[in-house]
Amino acid sequence: MPTGNFDLGGEVMTGPSSGRTSRGSASELGGLIVFTAHPDDEFFCAGLIGALTHRGIPVHLVCWTGGEGGMSRRTRLLLTLPKRFHPRRIEMRRSARHLGATSLTFLPYVDYRSKAGLAAPVFDSTALKQEIADLMTQREAGMVVTHGSDGDYGHPAHQVLHRLVREVCCEAKGTSRPLLTFNANWASAPHARCLNQSDRADCVLDSRPYRRQKLQVFFSHRTQVGVLKSMVKESGSSLRELMHATRYEGYHCWNEGPLREQALKRFQDWTGTGSGGDKEISS
Ligand SMILES: [Zn+2]
Repeated sequence: MPTGNFDLGGEVMTGPSSGRTSRGSASELGGLIVFTAHPDDEFFCAGLIGALTHRGIPVHLVCWTGGEGGMSRRTRLLLTLPKRFHPRRIEMRRSARHLGATSLTFLPYVDYRSKAGLAAPVFDSTALKQEIADLMTQREAGMVVTHGSDGDYGHPAHQVLHRLVREVCCEAKGTSRPLLTFNANWASAPHARCLNQSDRADCVLDSRPYRRQKLQVFFSHRTQVGVLKSMVKESGSSLRELMHATRYEGYHCWNEGPLREQALKRFQDWTGTGSGGDKEISS
């Protein structure tokens, strides 16, 4: 896919851009590519991103949309400005810088909220899967991360993106890649509304060393902080409890055979952790 199809106004290069990592070249190992539906979804894997960028491993962020549907009536007036000035894109760039991401790309799709509530953008499956596959090739992705199969908290856009990325990585010919999805569940996982009950964690990351970055990501999305805080409050919780509940990040691997072994080994090598999501973690 020609680069011109991307919204380059939304792309930043903040981290290691040469492709060299502390553990070998990108062609040997590749980096991580993260596909999320909206700006702020990267919070769900901020610990993993922080762990990788801390080790000099390239991380590429891709947003399916600019999160237009999640804006208030007042801030929506700013959508008449060029895309690079849209508040949620600015927030996403700020978040990407805090995380030390190598690149950030917005795909040319518009997020909207239907009268019925949360919705997925209008898209063509074949074209979008080609865009996803092309980005994986261009970014030399050695691992792919995206949403869980339940859409985390049931968001239709998260569910659709999960299915398409999974089809590209696990089912399409010639485009297979190691695929992990975030918000996976495990036996002793702390209660959190965003966990996917259908996805068992194959590996769990202790994200406490990257707590500061997770908070920076949270507060980068200023237009969403009020919404997120009220969601947290509605569930009878607090920001402190949210950070506590998300201090471990569970990931489910969708590959089979050698690619599955490669994915779990790579996770272990890149994060310096063991695998095995069913181990007991005290709360
Ligand atoms: Zn989202």
